[in-house]
Amino acid sequence: MKKNGDSSKRNTTAKNWQRTNNEIGHLPDIVFFCPHCHEKMLFRHSHLDNTAGYLTNLVGYKCPECESVRWFAVDDSEEYLEGLREKRGDEYVPSKEVWASESEKIRKKLETLGYI
Ligand SMILES: [Zn+2]
Repeated sequence: MKKNGDSSKRNTTAKNWQRTNNEIGHLPDIVFFCPHCHEKMLFRHSHLDNTAGYLTNLVGYKCPECESVRWFAVDDSEEYLEGLREKRGDEYVPSKEVWASESEKIRKKLETLGYI
């Protein structure tokens, strides 16, 4: 087993993911459904991670129904990931307004909590 994973995977964008060329970094080709309640999961957060010894874009999805969260460590070329860091810094969190616009349930929840 290689210490730092399979370096050949890091030269190209991970399978089932597309580069966004904006501050998000990557979005999937497929829709994620919550494994607990089967609700459509929504993009919530992405940040660059280097804990494995090489850069990945950690992309987080959250279920608006049961709060379940899933993280994906998306591989890509170091050049693209460093470019992402220059564009946005190490992390990207959409504003509450942007996130709320994706889901009526979330908008109501944030409104109840006084965020919007
Ligand atoms: Zn759920």
